[in-house]
Amino acid sequence: MSAEEKFDAIVIGAGPAGLACAYALAREGKEVVLLERGSSAGEKNYTGGRMYAHALDALEPGLCEEAAAQGALERRVTHEQIMCLSENSGMTIDYTDGGLLHRAGSDPAVEAPQSWTVLHSKFNAWFASKAEEAGVALAPGVRVDSLIEEDGKIVGVRAGEDELYADVVVAADGVNSFIAASAGLAPAVNAHSVGVGIKEVIELPESVIEDRFQIDKDGGAARVVLGCTAGIPGGGAIYTNRNTISLACVFNPAHAAEQKRRLPDIFQEFKMHPAIYPLIKGGTTVEYGGHLVMENGWRNVMRTPYRDGLLVAGEAAGYVINTGVIIRGIDLAILSGTAAAQAILTGAQGKALGQEYVRRLELCKLNDAMRAAQNWPDFMASPRLFSAYPDMGVDMLRQLFTVDDGAASLKKRLCGSVKKSGAGIMDMVRDAWRAYKAL
Ligand SMILES: Cc1cc2nc3c(=O)[nH]c(=O)nc-3n(C[C@H](O)[C@H](O)[C@H](O)COP(=O)(O)OP(=O)(O)OC[C@H]3O[C@@H](n4cnc5c(N)ncnc54)[C@H](O)[C@@H]3O)c2cc1C
Repeated sequence: MSAEEKFDAIVIGAGPAGLACAYALAREGKEVVLLERGSSAGEKNYTGGRMYAHALDALEPGLCEEAAAQGALERRVTHEQIMCLSENSGMTIDYTDGGLLHRAGSDPAVEAPQSWTVLHSKFNAWFASKAEEAGVALAPGVRVDSLIEEDGKIVGVRAGEDELYADVVVAADGVNSFIAASAGLAPAVNAHSVGVGIKEVIELPESVIEDRFQIDKDGGAARVVLGCTAGIPGGGAIYTNRNTISLACVFNPAHAAEQKRRLPDIFQEFKMHPAIYPLIKGGTTVEYGGHLVMENGWRNVMRTPYRDGLLVAGEAAGYVINTGVIIRGIDLAILSGTAAAQAILTGAQGKALGQEYVRRLELCKLNDAMRAAQNWPDFMASPRLFSAYPDMGVDMLRQLFTVDDGAASLKKRLCGSVKKSGAGIMDMVRDAWRAYKAL
C-alpha cells in the first residue's frame, strides 16, 4: 500500500457484511479496498454455524446455489431440532419438512434450501475470492487503527504508517465496533447488550455424522439446546457440517460473572453430558474459541448508522436476532452490507447518503425483521427458561415413560415435575405472557 491512495470506497472487515458490500460495489465498477486484520477472510470470523440463504438471493440471485456447488457451504438443513437437557437426561424434538428445502419466494419446482450449515473459514474465503474476481482489492493482515476526519467528514483510515482515502468508508468490523465507537456512533458494549460465545468444531467421518443425527447424505441438522448453561441465561447449538460438528454455547456475561465456575468448564460439561457425548465421541477437535455476539435485538440497532463519509453495517450496527430457537446474524450482515453498497451506488453524499442507506435498510425489510423480534430479549431474560423449564420438560417425560408400582396417578406425578422444577404458577403465567408478547 502506498502512503496515500484514494478509492471510491474503503470497507473495514471481511466478514459477511463487508464482503457483501465490497462485492456489490466492485461488481458495478467501483474501486474498493477491503481491509481485514486477519491473515485471510474467515480467519477472525465467528459463528455458531447456520446461514439463512435468502440474503444471498438479495445480493445476487443464484449466488447461494453457486456457493453450494463450489463447496463453500456445508449441509442443507433438513432437520430442525430443539433439545432440552437436565442434569443427566435429555429430550429432543425433531422437525423435518420438505418446506425447509424451499425458501420463501423461490420457484417451488426447484430446490432452494431455506438454510445451510456453514463454516466461516470456508464460506468467507469463497466469498472473498468472488469479491476479488469482481475487482475488490482485498488487503488481509491490515488492522485499521483510526479514521481520518477533515472538517467533520470521514475521508479515510489510518492503518499503521499508511493513510488511505476514499469517498466513503464502510465500517463492517463486527460486534463491539471500535470504528463506530470512535466515530461517536455506538456506545461501548456492556454486559447486558452482548453474549459470550464458546465454540468447538469436532471432526468425524461423514457417515458417522449421518448415522448419529439420522440424516441422509445431503441432509443436515440444526439443533438448539436449552438447559446446557448451568442456569445462566443463554443456550447451546449443534450443527452438522460435511465432516465436522459445530458445538456452541452463548452465555449472558452479567449472570456468568455471578457464577463461581469458569465458562469453558460449563462448556466442557455440556460436551460430556450423556445426551451429547455420544454425538461427538471419537471426534477430533479442529477449532476452539470464544467471541462476543450482540444480544439485545432492535434495542441495540443504531438508529443513525452513518456520519458524513461513514456507513456502519452488519453486527457493528447491531444487526443480530436471537430468539433462543433462531439466531440470525450472517444473513442480516449480508443484507445490511448490500444496502450500504446500493446506497453508495446512487451517488448520494454526506447526510443524503446516510439517509439513503437507512431507506435501503427499510426497503429490504431488515429493520422490520428486527422490530418484529424486539420483545424477545424480555422473554429471554427469564432465568427459568434455562434451567427450571428444561428440567420440568425432561422430568415430565421421565414420569411418562417410567413403569413402577403405579401407586401414584400420572396426573399427580406430572404435577410433581412442575413442583420439583421450582417454577411457581405466577412465574409461568408471567413467562407465558412475555412469550406471547415476544411473538
Ligand atoms: C457463538 C456464536 C454463534 C452464532 N451463531 C450464528 C448462527 O448460527 N447463524 C447466524 O446467522 N449468526 C450467528 N452468529 C452471529 C454471526 O456470526 C454474526 O452476526 C456475523 O458473522 C456478523 O457478520 P459481520 O460481517 O457483521 O461481522 P464479523 O463476521 O464479525 O466480521 C468483522 C470482520 O472485521 C474484522 N475487523 C474488526 N476490526 C477490524 C479493524 N480495526 N481493521 C480491520 N479489520 C477489522 C474482523 O477481523 C472480522 O473479520 C453467532 C455468533 C456467535 C458469537
